[in-house]
Amino acid sequence: MTTAGRVHNFCAGPCTLPVSVLEEVRDEMLDFDGTGMSIIEASHRAPAYDAVHMDALTDFRDLADVPDDFTVLFLQGGATLQFAQVPMNLLADGESAGYVDTGAWGGKALADARLLADVYEAWSGADGGFRRMPASDEIQVSDGSRFLHITSNETIGGIRFPDYPEVDVPLVGDMSSDFLSRPIDWSRFDLVYGGAQKNLGPAGLAIVVVRTDLLGRSGRDLAAYLDYSTHASNDSMANTPPMFAIYVMGKVLRWMKASGGLVEFERRASERADLVYGAVDGSDGWYTSPVDEASRSHMNIVFRLPDEDLEKRFVAEAAEAGMVNLKGHRSVGGIRASVYNALAVDSVHTLVDFMGAFRAANA
Ligand SMILES: *Cc1c(COP(=O)(O)O)cnc(C)c1O
Repeated sequence: MTTAGRVHNFCAGPCTLPVSVLEEVRDEMLDFDGTGMSIIEASHRAPAYDAVHMDALTDFRDLADVPDDFTVLFLQGGATLQFAQVPMNLLADGESAGYVDTGAWGGKALADARLLADVYEAWSGADGGFRRMPASDEIQVSDGSRFLHITSNETIGGIRFPDYPEVDVPLVGDMSSDFLSRPIDWSRFDLVYGGAQKNLGPAGLAIVVVRTDLLGRSGRDLAAYLDYSTHASNDSMANTPPMFAIYVMGKVLRWMKASGGLVEFERRASERADLVYGAVDGSDGWYTSPVDEASRSHMNIVFRLPDEDLEKRFVAEAAEAGMVNLKGHRSVGGIRASVYNALAVDSVHTLVDFMGAFRAANA
């Protein structure tokens, strides 16, 4: 098989995956490593799967440069379950934490945490239409707060923290939509989490990286699955793990390591983002970016055309030309080009060329 027939996929999640990874998966589908079966038919207690699982844990740790005093967990329930699981595991009765409401995802994290613990809004971008991330000194952290929860990249609004806020408490980060697209300064974080399907693999898997000494610290009686300790003491195999998602992500992690690691992926992300924002900024105001320049996402690039009718035609004509999933989220409209780790820069050049041609034909 060649890459013929594949589209340029700008989907916000699940993401496009490296063709080399998909080819490996295809080649191993009937017979994984001489076992006479695929990995998704194997027992999760079999040696073949055990190796896949442990390698994925190790490769995640290596690639993200996770320090020894953190534990890496592979969980289910998506990033969404973490909106509840984080406060359950990190906040004891009566303890509080601040949440930064930067848009759709930050708001959901706060809403769920409110059901479970004494948390508060430390900053909200609602008044400004969620067009930017806050500066550190705008964030109000109350005395005694255990942590500050941030969303490193708002997938729908198209904004990111260029640098993580400088506050006096540890950070907890939902990194779902820019996970491993840049190096992480672990000294700032107590916990980081994200769904795999935005940048690292298929859906069905969430990764939580937590400071090991925080396991069990809330003192709450939690159902086994909800307690991080259950997973930590069983190498994330306390129950049947999402084997296929872990297997595919393992291949993506190896591909990323072989391609130069996070420094290289940060460079590629900047290159892709600069190309698209360059096309917006160079259009004499025909394409417009609704977000503050300093907060522009490098993963989810949102932009508008002069009217909604043109936006509909843009999406339709782009799809005819092989560029799919460019429609903005239904809550905000416009165009959204998600340019995750595995999206080839060629796809971005194709989009930028199309943007120029579409403008020339319609301006
Ligand atoms: C997609 C997304 C989520 C939700 O992830 P699920 O894995 O679908 O639960 C949470 N936070 C952010 C920033 C996201 O982009």
